[in-house]
Amino acid sequence: MHKRKIIRQGAVAIEGKTIVETGKTRDLKRKYGRGYERIDAKEKVVMPGLINTHQHAAMSLLRGYADDLPLREWLEKRIWPIEKHMTPHDIYVGALLTAVESIMGGTTTVNTMYHYTPGENEAKAFADAGLRGVIGHVCFSWRKKEDKKALVNLAGEWHNKKEGLIRVSICPHAPYTVDPEYMKELKETRIELNREYGSEMTPIICHIHIAETADEPEKIREAFNVQLKNGVMAYLDSLDVLDEHVVAAHCVAVTEKDIAVMRKRKVKVSHNPVSNLKLASGITPVPEMLEEDITVSLGTDGPCSNNTADMFETMKTAALLHKGVNRNPTVLPAEKVLEMATIDGAKALSWDREIGSIEPGKRADLIIINFKKPHLHPLYNETSHLVYAAKASDVETVIINGKIVMENRQLKTVNVEKVLDMSEKSKNTLLERLNT
Ligand SMILES: [Zn+2]
Repeated sequence: MHKRKIIRQGAVAIEGKTIVETGKTRDLKRKYGRGYERIDAKEKVVMPGLINTHQHAAMSLLRGYADDLPLREWLEKRIWPIEKHMTPHDIYVGALLTAVESIMGGTTTVNTMYHYTPGENEAKAFADAGLRGVIGHVCFSWRKKEDKKALVNLAGEWHNKKEGLIRVSICPHAPYTVDPEYMKELKETRIELNREYGSEMTPIICHIHIAETADEPEKIREAFNVQLKNGVMAYLDSLDVLDEHVVAAHCVAVTEKDIAVMRKRKVKVSHNPVSNLKLASGITPVPEMLEEDITVSLGTDGPCSNNTADMFETMKTAALLHKGVNRNPTVLPAEKVLEMATIDGAKALSWDREIGSIEPGKRADLIIINFKKPHLHPLYNETSHLVYAAKASDVETVIINGKIVMENRQLKTVNVEKVLDMSEKSKNTLLERLNT
């Protein structure tokens, strides 16, 4: 992903958290001999870890709890009522389960939006699993005071912590659940928290759902009595809350004008094709956005609207979906899709100076994929196989921040069996609380 360059018979040298050199194996072998641990990746592909730019990690506990309903009914009648019963421990367990699933599928960074709780939370789960992440606290108009406290605690406790593994974000839920005044207030909060805890290199970003469905202007009018003259983006821009540190999930129902606003304000997009298809929300005009040089990254969305954290599936779905609806097989070629899942994901999270490609000076977040599989033979083009043929289960070894977190599919940070047991236990107690 460094200028789309592929090095065959190549090697990567890592010191501590950092990639120090890439090149031909024969050259690097001589230079980095004694004192260096070596991983043999012969007949395998080493690539940057995948970056999932939209998740609700803790919601894995609700995977498969409610399916096949429209977004509003699904959220208001099924998801929100059971979510009320989730404890901080459940949030931790759900996020840990997603962290394990993500790592095992070659994802090294996850941008997640959920409720921050002191003690046990998503940040702790990611840190325990060794997964890189941007952890957000989701904000709603009806709980401004609690949100403010949570945001301050989250930033103070976690931003740029664990050797730079964890960053945080501010998450206005959506334009129809966050009123215009609060939207502006949250931008101010972001500026304040950045002054205190962030830097140009390590910004606290904004992670928000925008234009997930076509009726969003109607929902905004109903909720806040605001009549939108143009699209949702134009509305948000009139509040002065859009900038290059905003990652907007979905952007399905956007107009040409919206796209022009996004380009002007350098808003980053998280495209979630599987979730949008499952909820029948519509299809994001990704080719049009790419034409306008907008950064479009990929996300899975939460585990109950997808229902997995599989970024290989997401890559393939994105590539196929836009070819199909545009009746044009040349849109979203494999090279672009792979960029969307790596370097463009890093750009979306304002983290591209450190991750997203295998380049000297960047953090060592890389995955090794075993190509000795029937579905990955014969080999003409690695990129084609990675997008159209590889599966999450082909990922063999995962390195994050220079640390081996999975080797030969064995997790080194947490006990997977135990995490699975914990998730079943949490599910059972959650159902008990819901039914009493
Ligand atoms: Zn979402």
